[in-house]
Amino acid sequence: MPKPQPTDVSLKKMQKYVEHYIHKSGTFLHPDPSITDSVVQGLAQNMDELGKPLCPCNFYPDKKAEAQKRTWICACDEMKEYKYCHCLLFVAENGLPITEYLPEDHEGRTSYGVVKDPMPEKGREATRVQHPHR
Ligand code: SF4
Repeated sequence: MPKPQPTDVSLKKMQKYVEHYIHKSGTFLHPDPSITDSVVQGLAQNMDELGKPLCPCNFYPDKKAEAQKRTWICACDEMKEYKYCHCLLFVAENGLPITEYLPEDHEGRTSYGVVKDPMPEKGREATRVQHPHR
């Protein structure tokens, strides 16, 4: 059976979001555009199905219940805390996921070793002190 196609509206929305978020987070798109395309398609399909951009790279026993939580809504908690994207959507310039902030026993570390953050001044918004008056 062919894979269902996301709607143009969701696809455009996710493409725009990804463009915005690479700048905000200080990351790069993967050098192989087909990787980016397939993740964006998956996010857009989840937008259509669930109304939220649930990460397409995990298996969920109950997708609808998962979409009610914040953990795996793109940009997910791991991205906001560690700047790590296991889908390879937001990566270092060479296409590897940034792993330098991950706990040492995290599977990203064991798979890729230490991959440095190319722009430490950006991203990891969950770890930054908020200055509401600035
Ligand atoms: S791993 Fe996180 S940041 Fe990467 S595509 Fe999935 S939800 Fe988005």
